[in-house]
Amino acid sequence: MSIAQFSDQVLEWFDDHGRTTLPWQREPTPYRVWVSEVMLQQTQVVTVIPYFQRFMEHFPAVFTLAAAPLDEVLHLWTGLGYYARARNLHRAAGVIMAQHGGEFPQHIDAVQALPGIGRSTAAAILALSTGQRHAILDGNVKRVLARFHAVDGWPGQAVVEQTLWGWAEQHTATVPEQRVAHYTQAMMDLGATLCTRANPACARCPLQADCAAHQQNRVGDFPTPKPRKTLPVRATTLLMLHDANHHVLLIQRPPTGIWGGLWSFPECPTGWDIQDWCEQKMRCRIDSVEAWPVLRHTFSHFHLDITPVRARVQHTSGVMDAGASVWYNPASPQALGLAAPVQRLLERL
Ligand code: SF4
Repeated sequence: MSIAQFSDQVLEWFDDHGRTTLPWQREPTPYRVWVSEVMLQQTQVVTVIPYFQRFMEHFPAVFTLAAAPLDEVLHLWTGLGYYARARNLHRAAGVIMAQHGGEFPQHIDAVQALPGIGRSTAAAILALSTGQRHAILDGNVKRVLARFHAVDGWPGQAVVEQTLWGWAEQHTATVPEQRVAHYTQAMMDLGATLCTRANPACARCPLQADCAAHQQNRVGDFPTPKPRKTLPVRATTLLMLHDANHHVLLIQRPPTGIWGGLWSFPECPTGWDIQDWCEQKMRCRIDSVEAWPVLRHTFSHFHLDITPVRARVQHTSGVMDAGASVWYNPASPQALGLAAPVQRLLERL
C-alpha cells in the first residue's frame, strides 16, 4: 500500500461509517471543538455528550466562560472527573480574552501555548474546526499506527512517540486539502470503534489488507504496554538457626506487614553483627556460621534480597522460649503456614 492509499481508505471508510452528527460536529467552531476535545481527553463520547450540551447552554462563547466564577465551571464538570481539565479551560478562556481579544487563536503555536492543550489536542482543534493540516496523535491514533506499522516499544517513550508522530505526519500530508477535518475525525473514530484496545474488529477495518500487526498475527502485541516500574530493592538476613538435632528455629511473624502471621526464620536487621544480634536478641551463642547465596523474593512493591545464614546454636535454653516460636523438624514437618522463600530454604537445608 502506498502512503496515499492509507488516507484514501480511511476517508472512504469515514464516508460510510464515520461519526458526523456529534453535537460539536454540527457547529464546529474552534471554541466548541476545543471544549469537546478537552472533555473527550479521558472520557468516552457517550458520557461527554450531555456534559457538552449543558456546558454550551451555560457558556456559549469564550467570553461567557472567562467571565464565569470557577465554581460554576467546576459544578458543570461534576461527575466528569479530572477536574484539572475544567480549571485549565477556565484559565485558558481568560488567556484568550486577555491575549487574543476573545477570539480563539488560529495559529497552532498559540493554541498549544494555552493551559491544558498539548500538541495533539491543538492539532485536532484546528484540523476539525478550520481544516488546517495538522497531524494528531491521541491514544486512539497511536494504537492504530502502532498496529498498522508494527511499531515496537511503549508509545510513552520519546523515541517510539517520535516514530508514531512521523507516521501520523506522513499520512496526514497525503490527505486532500478539503478533507483534513474528515480524516482527523476518521482516525479518531477508527481507533475508538474498530481498532479498539481489546478485540479489534479487523474484519471490518479498511486497513486490514496492509496492517502489519494483522498480517503477522500480532495485533495483541501493539502498542507495547507501559513497562513495569523498576522496583526498589531491600535487603535482609534470615537466620537459619539449628540445634544439634538439626531442628530449625521458626518464629511467627506479626499479623501485619510482609508475610503477616506466617512462620519464618528470625530476621536479623541489616547493619547488625549476627553474633551480637543472637546474643542480645535471642540470648544464645552461635557457631558454624555459613552464609548462603542471596535469594531474591519479589513483592508487588519491592524486591527483597535475602541473605540466608545458617548457624548452629550452642545451647538452646533461653532461645525464644516465648509462645510464637517452634523448633521445626524438616524431617517430619509440622503443618505451619510458611513464607514462600522460607519453604524453599527449608527444602534445601
Ligand atoms: S486491521 Fe485490525 S489491528 Fe490493523 S488497524 Fe485495522 S483494526 Fe487495527
